[in-house]
Amino acid sequence: MPPLPDALLPLVPTGPAGSTDESSRGAHRRSPPARPSRHLADLDPAERRSAVVALGEPAYRADQLSRHYFARLCADPGQMSDIPAAGREALARHFLPTLLTVVREASCDDGATVKTLWRGAGGALVESVLMGYADRATACVSSQAGCGMGCPFCATGQGGLTRNLSAAEIVEQVVAAARVAAQGRLSGAPPRLSNIVFMGMGEPLANYRAVLSAIRTLTSPQPHGLGLAQRSLTLSTVGLVPAMRRLAGEGLSVTLAVSLHAPDDELRDTLVPVNRRWPVREVLAAAWRYAGVTGRRVSIEYALIRDVNDQPERASALGRLLRGRLAHVNLIPLNPTPGSVWTASRPGRQREFVARLRALGVPTTVRDTRGREIGGACGQLAGAELPGIGPATPRS
Ligand code: SF4
Repeated sequence: MPPLPDALLPLVPTGPAGSTDESSRGAHRRSPPARPSRHLADLDPAERRSAVVALGEPAYRADQLSRHYFARLCADPGQMSDIPAAGREALARHFLPTLLTVVREASCDDGATVKTLWRGAGGALVESVLMGYADRATACVSSQAGCGMGCPFCATGQGGLTRNLSAAEIVEQVVAAARVAAQGRLSGAPPRLSNIVFMGMGEPLANYRAVLSAIRTLTSPQPHGLGLAQRSLTLSTVGLVPAMRRLAGEGLSVTLAVSLHAPDDELRDTLVPVNRRWPVREVLAAAWRYAGVTGRRVSIEYALIRDVNDQPERASALGRLLRGRLAHVNLIPLNPTPGSVWTASRPGRQREFVARLRALGVPTTVRDTRGREIGGACGQLAGAELPGIGPATPRS
């Protein structure tokens, strides 16, 4: 394994100015954070009604606005004919401000994968990826602009953290993806967005409150939210143990994905620097607690990196850790990132890794790698457009 630059390593979950998350203090960031405007999707239904009344409108306007945004996927006041014209503009200005503007959109896989690069308040750049399959449409969304976790094999991690996203900025990525699907622009996929994975830029649990708020809005029945099933949401973490414990008490049934990438602390300390704070044993204990409370199988994410973590003995060690647990291993062939020495395992090694896990009774799949050509694949997000990262390529 090549030596790792020290500057990348000892990071602990960090966050932007304005964040009060415990796990988000002390971030290194590259530009002054700017707060996004308040948006309908930052508020719960009661707060929406109060805010509408404060504007001098009847409370039911909040439900009308919510129906337009969450059910009709519409933020254009010109199309809100059930709201008197005199008040529409002001309501839209106050509750549906533009949070993210498209910088660039690219597609590949014959139109079944669409990646969007967005610009938010303060110039923050984030990316989302929409993936179509015969039976579902899945959006991979970002929870932070950049990431403070510093995993050395990940393009996002190399740029550091810019700022946390607001709940509405997270929801807006989903609404935009739902529009693309509804317009039939995702080839070969159903027109209804059904699955969300929080595997884009950022560590979701380092932006806990906004991510939880977004999850509640995404899964609230229409018109108050998008009406997505909690079980069709997957929240990924590198293992912020206190936040994982807190999540287990939220009464949710979303799938938890743990980015493990190594079964032993010695290696994981280098691949996932936050492991120095919360080692493998504690991360897995928190994962089993989540599985115990929710009854949901935990997804163990493992990026297979050539000659780094793909040795047969590591497969066996991983299998022994997971044997008999409510867990499933998702192996991710590492995607190339600009200028990186890290690369995917050889096919024979990958097959052996899978075989060893399965021999120990651990359900294992190899992730379908989408979007490599457009830099929309796992580990690639945010390579493009970010200072010091070189040309096009982004992560999931
Ligand atoms: S792998 Fe995830 S947690 Fe690690 S730096 Fe990349 S985005 Fe952050």
